[in-house]
Amino acid sequence: MSIVANIQSIQQAIPDRVTLIAVSKTVSEDVILQTYESGHHDFGENRVMDLIRKAQKLPKDIRWHFIGHLQRNKVRQVLPYTHLIHSIDSLNLLKEVDQEAKKLGKKMDVLLQFQIAEEETKFGLDIQEAIELLESQGFKNMMHVRIRGVMGMATLTDDENRIRKEFRQLHQIFSTIRDRFFRKEDTFNEISMGMSGDYLLALEEGSTMIRIGTAIFN
Ligand SMILES: *Cc1c(COP(=O)(O)O)cnc(C)c1O
Repeated sequence: MSIVANIQSIQQAIPDRVTLIAVSKTVSEDVILQTYESGHHDFGENRVMDLIRKAQKLPKDIRWHFIGHLQRNKVRQVLPYTHLIHSIDSLNLLKEVDQEAKKLGKKMDVLLQFQIAEEETKFGLDIQEAIELLESQGFKNMMHVRIRGVMGMATLTDDENRIRKEFRQLHQIFSTIRDRFFRKEDTFNEISMGMSGDYLLALEEGSTMIRIGTAIFN
């Protein structure tokens, strides 16, 4: 199947309110441009240098999602090109984003990344760390970031029950944080979960953004 046909068949399987992010980390600018010209504008990259290089060459109205682990010393470079950072996993990283967004005169949309998988290696906060972050004076002083929701990755496994459990856990984390910290802000409304192998389960568990690479580009 062609890339455009892949996107269309995924779009047909998901509700309108869900954002499909085409994870373009394995493909060239040419392929992204072809996909863009078919009408798709949300793309995800997990490396700062790739995102910058592609963003500089491609149409300015592409919405670039940064989905990889972000180092503080790369924030300055990536911020001007990024629509949404999915991977905030510490107060210090968020502080850096706030400071650099201030210099650019913009307010940066971000998600808090949570560690929901079995593997210890995956990055992310746990609920307690997130609560500490959100209660901290450091966070309360930030004027140039807006937390839009949460992101997580399930364990890479065939065990559907396990994956579902992890997605459900992320949804619960989202609800807990919303009720405790964002009751008055209806902009805290995104749950980024679901990849090529597990997005249907993620949707059943309340995902609002799915990040799909292989099922589109391979
Ligand atoms: C690569 C990647 C994806 C897409 O994975 P596929 O299995 O190819 O759909 C989603 N999220 C993150 C964080 C990624 O790095």
